[in-house]
Amino acid sequence: MARTEAARATSDTPRAILAAAGLRPTRQRLAIVDLLFRRGPRHVSVDSLFDELSRRGSPGSLSCVYSSLRRFAEIGLLRRTPIYGETTYFDTQLEHHHHFYVIGEDRLMDVPVGEIALDRLPSLPDGYELVTVDVVVRLKRAPACV
Ligand SMILES: [Zn+2]
Repeated sequence: MARTEAARATSDTPRAILAAAGLRPTRQRLAIVDLLFRRGPRHVSVDSLFDELSRRGSPGSLSCVYSSLRRFAEIGLLRRTPIYGETTYFDTQLEHHHHFYVIGEDRLMDVPVGEIALDRLPSLPDGYELVTVDVVVRLKRAPACV
């Protein structure tokens, strides 16, 4: 188990999670870790997290939020998901899983593990090897009954 995963598994405080990851506990990092890991698995974008931090009165700029999320992904605290639409999401759920993406709401949700079965994949082009397969099930709101 990676050091960062071990830190998260113990449900430690934000300060302990940052310490285990070898990161300095700045006020903004502490606020970000608190928002990311206190309430269970979630997906955030730079914009959504910045808005959340702003509503809580936390200091920092959009670029600082981006830098923190990117750094957290580099060290394994978060998983950077593929880009859906215009948005890059960061996922607190580190195990491989697939997603629902809600068009028009810019919203990402986890597909429960085991609910997608892939039993046939294409032949790979010469000179390439498979890294992972990420399934995105795109949804839109069903029209309301009138
Ligand atoms: Zn996810």
